[in-house]
Amino acid sequence: MKLLRPGQKALRSGQYAMCDPSGGKIKEVTLTKGEPFPRTEKPGQGYQWVDATLDESVELDDDIGSGMDCMFCGGGLSMDGSCLKCGKQN
Ligand SMILES: [Zn+2]
Repeated sequence: MKLLRPGQKALRSGQYAMCDPSGGKIKEVTLTKGEPFPRTEKPGQGYQWVDATLDESVELDDDIGSGMDCMFCGGGLSMDGSCLKCGKQN
């Protein structure tokens, strides 16, 4: 059982489970990407990835469009300038 060590930085935001060396879950903690794992209660304990936070999926959705707004409806534009909401060409 490979566990992430306290002090090691989280590679992605989400929920992690604090585990004992055999993988038994002690409690869950939520970490932001780049944040170090907190100290464990006892030596040998570590962390395991549980689940992504909702924030991360929102970020991914934002990356689909061009970042511009439709001049007709205010919806997001795709890379070719067509509106993702009303379909009109901008
Ligand atoms: Zn539109």
